[in-house]
Amino acid sequence: MREETKKDAYEVDVLIVGYGAAGANAAIAAHDAGARVLILEKLSAGGGNSAVCAGAMVVPENLDAAIAYYRALAGGTVGEEMILAFAEAMMGIPDLLSRLGVEYKIEPSIPPTFPSLASGRLKQMHISPTGENGFRLLDRMVRQRNIEILPDTRVQALIQHPETGEVLGARARHRGQDLQLLARQGVVLACGGYGCNPEMLANFNLPGATDYIFPWGSPGNTGDGIVLASEAGAALWHMNALEWGRFCARAPSRQFGTAIGYGLGLTRRAGSYMFVNRRGSRFMAEDGLLSHCKSQLDILRYDHDKARFANLPAFMVFDHAHLANGPIAPTAAMLRKKRGGVVGYALVNRIYDWSADNQAEIAAGWVMQADSLAALADRIGAPAEVLEETVRQFNLGCRERHDHQFGRSASTLASLGAPPYFAVELGLSLVNTQGGPKRNVHGQVLDHRDAVIPRLYAAGELGSFFGFLYQIGSNYPEAWAFGQIAGARAAAEPRL
Ligand SMILES: Cc1cc2nc3c(=O)[nH]c(=O)nc-3n(C[C@H](O)[C@H](O)[C@H](O)COP(=O)(O)OP(=O)(O)OC[C@H]3O[C@@H](n4cnc5c(N)ncnc54)[C@H](O)[C@@H]3O)c2cc1C
Repeated sequence: MREETKKDAYEVDVLIVGYGAAGANAAIAAHDAGARVLILEKLSAGGGNSAVCAGAMVVPENLDAAIAYYRALAGGTVGEEMILAFAEAMMGIPDLLSRLGVEYKIEPSIPPTFPSLASGRLKQMHISPTGENGFRLLDRMVRQRNIEILPDTRVQALIQHPETGEVLGARARHRGQDLQLLARQGVVLACGGYGCNPEMLANFNLPGATDYIFPWGSPGNTGDGIVLASEAGAALWHMNALEWGRFCARAPSRQFGTAIGYGLGLTRRAGSYMFVNRRGSRFMAEDGLLSHCKSQLDILRYDHDKARFANLPAFMVFDHAHLANGPIAPTAAMLRKKRGGVVGYALVNRIYDWSADNQAEIAAGWVMQADSLAALADRIGAPAEVLEETVRQFNLGCRERHDHQFGRSASTLASLGAPPYFAVELGLSLVNTQGGPKRNVHGQVLDHRDAVIPRLYAAGELGSFFGFLYQIGSNYPEAWAFGQIAGARAAAEPRL
């Protein structure tokens, strides 16, 4: 990212808060409409979730079918005008990419996430194997336009006209210095969700469980946009909607503050491993759906009578054969080979890569080892007789090629054999949040009476379209499309 001259006051036309896909697109659109644009990014490098995402853009081919599908997904959380605008924007993604000169690959026909709600199939587009290259491309477009970017700049408050409520700029903190930034046309909040804000997660979504939840995305996404927009009078929407990822390893995830060992247990679906709860009992089919799952997750089942989470803490338990068979969580090398790149903040930023033989994690104590099931039960705090019985039942199911308890697919079943045995505590990873300021089809932020807060815009996962069910591969193209819409509209505001 370019270093810019340090001034304590700036005046531009359009101010963009946050430099991910929504911010970059808003900046490009506003610039191309003739505005002088400044991008403010809290971290020392831009990218946000956009630069660590999988880069999948899943878009419809038929407008009428798309409208019906998005209406069903929304479940009453957005109005008809927004459903139509969203469907059109998603349909328009190929044209948008072509207009920007971005090359892409298309996988023409893929099943929707909720086939029973859709009348057709969808197409999946990839600009690159991962979001990392996609963001490089956006960054290049921003640089080619000489759009100013100010890194290490956290916007802390919006400046609003005391009578009209018009948003006139922002106050920010830049490397120990207070900045006042004036926007003659508008401010676009593109500063992501609150996946890295445990207090917001606890209050909006998961009281009591945030100690077990770890973001898979950028540490910059701490819900600042929710505070900024709320202070300006915005209504919030879609605060209920979260996108779950897969299991990760709890101990290193706590240590590094980000999901480590993402995909734990699913490196190879087949194998002599199981997930057990605090009692040493299985609680789910190990090959069951977690990512973007909208059913209540078994691991988060709350036991009213005991006033605690029935299945937390939870562990992956496995035998030596499974350990010897390769890494129990995907490594960067495996992902590069399989999909051409890595995904998630920890791997993209080389924070921690699981070892190929699991030995580093044993040495760190994240993977516990014991010579008997009784000793392993002791390590995880479960009754020995329960864990032993759980393994006996599981092994019986493996022999019969039928998991009577949870229906794990037969092809993945393998009995736990001879000791030593191993356990790793599970964390649950979070892909991103959807909640944020309510906005209209132009990206204008609305107050509690649905009136536009003048000159304030929002785009991307901060107040996304999705308030109920989520079609996988939608947040990323949404950030592109609605970043463009918000940026262009802000640049059309009369200059103050
Ligand atoms: C691992 C992962 C995989 C994913 N895979 C996919 C996928 O394949 N397809 C898909 O559709 N979606 C995917 N998603 C979701 C998608 O990537 C995001 O929802 C989308 O990219 C969000 O873009 P954004 O521009 O709104 O936010 P971000 O890209 O997160 O950018 C927000 C930026 O704002 C900055 N910021 C925050 N607060 C401030 C402040 N106060 N001042 C200044 N700057 C601030 C942050 O540091 C950050 O850089 C994935 C997400 C993750 C984490």
